[in-house]
Amino acid sequence: MGEWARVLGRLRDELGDTAYRSWFQEMRAERIDDGEGVASLPTRFLRNWVATHYADRVLAAWQAENHDVRRLVIVVGAHTEPAVRRPNGHAAEPMESPPAPNNSEIGEDRAQMSAPLDPRFKFENFVVGKPNELAHAAARRVAEACAGPHGSVPFNPLFLYGGVGLGKTHLMHAIAWHVRELAPHRKVIYLSAEKFMYQFIRALRFKSTMDFKEQFRSVDLLMIDDVQFISGKDTTQEEFFHTFNALVDQNRQIVISADKSPSDLAGLEERMRSRLGWGLVADLHPTTYELRLGILQAKAEQSGVCLPQKVMELLAHRITSNVRELEGALNRITAQMQLVGRDITLESAQELLHDLLRASERQVTIDEIQRKVAEHFNIKMAEMTSARRSRVVARPRQVAMYLAKHLTPRSLPEIGRKFGGRDHTTVMHAVRRIEQLTASDRAMAEDVELLRRTLQS
Ligand code: ADP
Ligand code: MG
Repeated sequence: MGEWARVLGRLRDELGDTAYRSWFQEMRAERIDDGEGVASLPTRFLRNWVATHYADRVLAAWQAENHDVRRLVIVVGAHTEPAVRRPNGHAAEPMESPPAPNNSEIGEDRAQMSAPLDPRFKFENFVVGKPNELAHAAARRVAEACAGPHGSVPFNPLFLYGGVGLGKTHLMHAIAWHVRELAPHRKVIYLSAEKFMYQFIRALRFKSTMDFKEQFRSVDLLMIDDVQFISGKDTTQEEFFHTFNALVDQNRQIVISADKSPSDLAGLEERMRSRLGWGLVADLHPTTYELRLGILQAKAEQSGVCLPQKVMELLAHRITSNVRELEGALNRITAQMQLVGRDITLESAQELLHDLLRASERQVTIDEIQRKVAEHFNIKMAEMTSARRSRVVARPRQVAMYLAKHLTPRSLPEIGRKFGGRDHTTVMHAVRRIEQLTASDRAMAEDVELLRRTLQS
């Protein structure tokens, strides 16, 4: 294997497959000149991107394979010189120009520009409750306006945000379905932010950015899902910002989703942040018991299963993290009923879902943790709050703080108070220390795991 291939191998290991394929796949070594390693990438965009985000990584990887390399330069484009002999005798691989797309590929690209829509994600399947009523109403407004005779734009952009599994994607697909059904001539693009980036980079590679921009420019409704994945990646942000402005100027509707509000999105340029907040910002709150119950009833009805009310209440009570998990539980029950052909009872539901339900088992208290840990390490309960700092008692105390942080919703200062009025930085230090120890010390990892299990069972 050549030296450069090993450099690339290092980068792939270090940065992961996705990043590797997006940025480094087409990077070539050009030459090494008096300690200066010269690498190339086929486009200015790729070159700028890698130079600003990964230069130090590339240099480190190259240095690790070849000590002669002390500096790094990344250049644009295909070199035309023959492969250069390097001091160590390996020939640099010649640059290959990126393949030109054939027509069928472009055609395919067009069709794929918008991601497929999930047929279950329609308005009629969306259960509305207090936590999501604003987001739902706004989404409906946008869908109806866009499908209307004049294709009007009620607020631009509509920015939907909320935690995982609360229905952002569902609402966006519902808008797209609505417009597609009532106004099929309107051009709608729905894309995840990641796909948007991918398409953009691909267009750059195939030198078809004009095409790419053209497609966005002619759109009536552009929806980009999970834009938190764009934040931080400034060149894509730049492109996104231009596309965004062009569409807003032409009065085309834009819908954006993210896991945070525009003002809380990290790594977003200021002008982008303010622009995203210009229209309507609607958040999806965590579900309530009533909404969860409503969703369960609707889903059970849709899939034609009849669940005892008690079972639905159990699920709505205990599976509170998000709607996706709730659906998972319901699907498991449905499958079981169909397989064994028997009705589900409260007991059998509990048994079937014990792993899901356990995560939401009754709260462990700090007192219980202190007691169990003291018992386990054979020290007095009073040492949990004492000022003694000898390792025999300090280490178990740290374990207890660590478990308190992980198994209870208490804050660091609250935990500190429970351990004889210690400062929150002491607790933080303990948590870190135990994290390190469980990673490096098998016995410690087993102790902690055992304690965790007994406390949670
Ligand atoms: P997000 O994009 O916010 O992470 P999704 O839109 O993918 O969440 O929703 C996760 C799952 O929960 C989907 O299967 C979706 O249909 C369902 N879901 C979420 N909210 C609701 C709701 N209010 N009514 C019906 N189904 C919902
Ligand atoms: Mg989503």
